[in-house]
Amino acid sequence: MDDPVERLKDGFHKFKTEVYDKKPELFEPLKAGQAPKYVVFACSDSRVCPSVTLGLQPGEAFTVRNIAAMVPAYDKTKYTGIGSAIEYAVCALKVEVLVVIGHSCCGGIRALLSLQDGAPDNFHFVENWVKIGFPAKIKVKKDHASVPFDDQCSILEKEAVNLSLENLKTYPFVKEGLANGTLKLVGGHYNFVSGEFHPWH
Ligand SMILES: [Zn+2]
Repeated sequence: MDDPVERLKDGFHKFKTEVYDKKPELFEPLKAGQAPKYVVFACSDSRVCPSVTLGLQPGEAFTVRNIAAMVPAYDKTKYTGIGSAIEYAVCALKVEVLVVIGHSCCGGIRALLSLQDGAPDNFHFVENWVKIGFPAKIKVKKDHASVPFDDQCSILEKEAVNLSLENLKTYPFVKEGLANGTLKLVGGHYNFVSGEFHPWH
């Protein structure tokens, strides 16, 4: 097996010589600060890095990644890692667009749809985290009751994005930005099986 540290060093060397050193017009201004236009919420899944799939350049997107790309509703006592990222991006960096991207074959979404009432958790954290998407799961179970489980998962991947977009509106600084037109919300779904990306307003 390749030495993991050597792999990282090689990766950086390639980036340094092929990208960093060749694009001073991109990297020089970033030394003074960042002014990203986007906040991107994406899943932690190793196959869906939004910088790669959407060609976002360094400095272009403030990125939050977690299991199933969930955005919880505003709560000062929980999920402060997410709340602080949204607050800093909107209030300090003045981003213009908040994007939430779901994806095909999402294990977090599958875990959410598989949760049974009263069943013991298999993980310390995962079940509690994906429960953020519970209202979306209820909707899919109700509206698509006769659909096979795998298809329900695909529908829930998009409904969970819609729920996260609704939850974003519970943050006072997001609500304000939407009201005065300085912020936009965008949802998206990346299907890495068919090689498609669908964004929506
Ligand atoms: Zn995922």
